[in-house]
Amino acid sequence: MSDSPYAFVAVGRPVRGEFTYRVPEALRGVLLPGHRIKVPFGRGTALGFYLAPAPEPSAEVLGKLRPIVEVLEKEPALSADIVELVRFAAAHYRYPLGEALRATLPPGMTKADDAERDAKVDLLWWASAVPGAAVDSLARAPAQHATLSYLLAVGGRALVTEVAHAIPGAKENLKKLAARGFVTLESQEIVKGVHAGLEQERPRALTPEQEVAVAKLCAAVDTRAFAPHLLHGVTGSGKTEVYLRVVEHARSLGLGALVIVPEIALTPQLVGRFQSRFGGEVALLHSALKDRERLRAWQQLRRGEKRIAVGVRSAIWAPVPDLGVVVVDEEHDPSFKQEEKLRYHARDLAVVRGQRAKCLVVLGSATPSLETLENARKGRYETCTLEHRVDDRPMPTVALVDLRVERPRTQENHNTEPPVLSASMREAIAGTLDRGQQVILFLNRRGHATFLTCEVCGESRRCTECDVCLTHHLSSRRLQCHYCGRTEPVPDVCPACQGPLLKLGVGTERLEAEVADAFPHARVARLDRDAATNAETLTDLLARFARRELDVLVGTQMVAKGHDFPGVTLVCVVLADASLALPDFRAAERTFHLLTQVAGRAGRGKDAGRVLVQSYNPEVPSVACMLRNDYAGFSAGELARRKSLAWPPYTRLVALRIEGDERHTARVAQQVGKVMARHLPPSSHGVRLLGPAPAPITRIKGKTRWQLVLKGPSHAAMARVLDAVEAWLPEVPSSVKVVIDVDPVAML
Ligand code: ADP
Ligand code: ZN
Repeated sequence: MSDSPYAFVAVGRPVRGEFTYRVPEALRGVLLPGHRIKVPFGRGTALGFYLAPAPEPSAEVLGKLRPIVEVLEKEPALSADIVELVRFAAAHYRYPLGEALRATLPPGMTKADDAERDAKVDLLWWASAVPGAAVDSLARAPAQHATLSYLLAVGGRALVTEVAHAIPGAKENLKKLAARGFVTLESQEIVKGVHAGLEQERPRALTPEQEVAVAKLCAAVDTRAFAPHLLHGVTGSGKTEVYLRVVEHARSLGLGALVIVPEIALTPQLVGRFQSRFGGEVALLHSALKDRERLRAWQQLRRGEKRIAVGVRSAIWAPVPDLGVVVVDEEHDPSFKQEEKLRYHARDLAVVRGQRAKCLVVLGSATPSLETLENARKGRYETCTLEHRVDDRPMPTVALVDLRVERPRTQENHNTEPPVLSASMREAIAGTLDRGQQVILFLNRRGHATFLTCEVCGESRRCTECDVCLTHHLSSRRLQCHYCGRTEPVPDVCPACQGPLLKLGVGTERLEAEVADAFPHARVARLDRDAATNAETLTDLLARFARRELDVLVGTQMVAKGHDFPGVTLVCVVLADASLALPDFRAAERTFHLLTQVAGRAGRGKDAGRVLVQSYNPEVPSVACMLRNDYAGFSAGELARRKSLAWPPYTRLVALRIEGDERHTARVAQQVGKVMARHLPPSSHGVRLLGPAPAPITRIKGKTRWQLVLKGPSHAAMARVLDAVEAWLPEVPSSVKVVIDVDPVAML
């Protein structure tokens, strides 16, 4: 609290910098960092955030200072640690601080007129008959008599809405009965529960490996110091149980917990486990919440009524006081990166938050990202490993179907496109279905660009400078590198072995039809963005599969997430190469993660699991290592490749995306390139500029896209170039948007 007559304020508008305001007499000694305030801004008012007392400004400025209008709440909405976290994020990701602060708040708190008020709550009303109520004394009030008789007839307690269904006017009657002491009315907050079939009991004992991990992590909670840990556990090793025990330990010390997951709708099981273990202590934060539900959850956490936040990436801002642990499940997942506005990475911010809150941070995965692995190897993070599955269940056996040798054959009676499933894969599916077990078919067809692969040697064309796959452009009939812009003509045959070239590109929809056709008795469903358009259908589909009302699940990477379906004994990877050729330096890593994750869905119950992988490129490391279940081998090779080509984790990246109308975009991209080139530090500093080049997806929604990539040993080394670009940005015509993406994930 400060008596200073001047204040530093962040304004919740897209403007850079902090502003100084005058503090009116009445507000002196009241303001705390994180307070939402109303301030004059431009010709109107805006939501602002009080940051700190300011020194007396120069005489020239002093005359222009305007006063803060009012404080919108008693307790600051944002606690000091959240303000600090947002400050870090706004600076690191180059986003206006006030806008960033505003973005962390739930609806109902983001406007200058949003005064403090409680979120509306959905209530269920129960009516109970008071024991010994003398029904007969109601003879002169027949309506009330009927209502009470009904209530007694159904056992003395019922939902008001139910009674009202049976007896018209029951609501009013019940109120009158309550006033006369015949009935009591009580309300209950409606809390969405766990989807049937997804709850789980507490296991009797931990596995020896879980035991060790839990002991180590709990000890780290006890120190109340920043302690980042990697929990590297193979699929099915019981990582969730480790999180649960650690959170339990934190709670036993009175500390709060924050658990971040890639997508709630895709992880109903993890959510179910937290809810059945901790019940009313858990606040769920996900994108399907209604505004008032989000506000309610936020308020309950801020007031300490709920102490565990479980949510998607935006839960990184959840106001959990006294944090004991931050968990990031499936830390390798690309969805932790926000791809608009404040482009933060929730996993990276989880570490920063843990640092500020002085607590344990657990990054869990079966396939840790190379960034996290490198941090662990360098000793910046501690590591806990779970090398075995729960109950000594074996890892699934993995077998290859080499598509260069075994080509899927067209059935006699079909003369349409060639099928996607090989004979071996069909046989395996048939056998599994005959045994009454379940199958997952995975096909990642999220690639946008068609790519060329040699049918004989499996080689795809790559850029010699950047080592990313070249993208095939139908219109120009050229192959192009989307990092450096180099192009080459489309070859007629494979330049390496003269073999014929294949254009790859099939989708889940066609696959689903093929499966339904081949196995007419199987109950088949598809899981991808087109089929599961909202959280409800998604959860419903997963629950039906869990209850074994479906036999086959066909899907994109959505089927690869952390699902735990004990009935699945066969996982089919329909085309392991599908994501390999994306023009992204992380394509190999992504592919390896996806394949390993989806394989990990097999054999999680009492029956052993099997994985069949169809591939044209079985020798490339992402596929070869996956076939051997060799995470260590894959990452060692991939880290060496990244090092030699100076990609992360050995460098840091900043992408600049330039998007707009066709006329100006290319020109602006060239200008941005020039401004950056002028401000590049001497080459000895190791900062390099790639591009400008057209983005791999050259047009989205009618907008032309270009990009530049800045590479450097650290963000500090690149700061000057980026400052220069930012200072120049006001000159960009309004038809073109320039976005700075720090530590980019999506390179398309
Ligand atoms: P992961 O996330 O590591 O892939 P899960 O946390 O989903 O694995 O655990 C796999 C399965 O093993 C789940 O069904 C879980 O309930 C069960 N499980 C976990 N720990 C134990 C244990 N100690 N004893 C028995 N079953 C366990
Ligand atoms: Zn290149």
